[in-house]
Amino acid sequence: MKGAVMVEKVQPAGVLPGEGLTVGVLALQGGVREHALMLESLGAQVRWVRTGEQLEGLDALVLPGGESSTIDRLTRIFGVREPLIEAISSGMPTLGTCAGLIMLSKRIEDPAPGQQSLGVLDVSVGRNAFGSQVDSAEVRLPWLTPAGDEVVIDTAFIRAPIVTGTDEGVQVTARHEGKIVGVRSGNLIGISFHPEVTGDTTVHEELLALAREVKGK
Ligand code: GLN
Repeated sequence: MKGAVMVEKVQPAGVLPGEGLTVGVLALQGGVREHALMLESLGAQVRWVRTGEQLEGLDALVLPGGESSTIDRLTRIFGVREPLIEAISSGMPTLGTCAGLIMLSKRIEDPAPGQQSLGVLDVSVGRNAFGSQVDSAEVRLPWLTPAGDEVVIDTAFIRAPIVTGTDEGVQVTARHEGKIVGVRSGNLIGISFHPEVTGDTTVHEELLALAREVKGK
């Protein structure tokens, strides 16, 4: 499903946006499969990532939703925390969704006891900002593309965080109920919601376009 307003694509006709790209999905906990299926449907090769070695040679990375405090703990148990920080800080195009956004952030306002983030995206976040699991909702939102167009995307909010503060260089790409739920900064895209659940490929295609740009350099 695409957004209501179509953005002009730079891809030649017949070529899928992910073709020739290998994208990792951090596969410690959470909604890994949905991202993998969406990326594959866009032509990318997908690698499930649990170790630092599996980060090598990737063109892009997705940190999925799930439970951020659990994902955080597992990154340390699996020894992949430092390699993740290193890879993302070195410019790997990375999309963090929901718990993945929390993982990317510089500061968590209300962490679980002992919870750390990777600290690579210059934002602070608040967890569970729209209520609990029972308050989950499907929402259509305007999304600001890198070209400055606004497209409508179909999303799902599941115990979603919000961005409570942004530093310089962080662009707000989406708001819900007045709260920041989407950001972009350099090689990073962070979203509070789950387009992989509704099947809207807009944000994943943006990640793949970014990966293609970085690979072409
Ligand atoms: N509330 C969860 C957390 O704090 C995130 C929920 C999600 O990823 N769907 O990690």
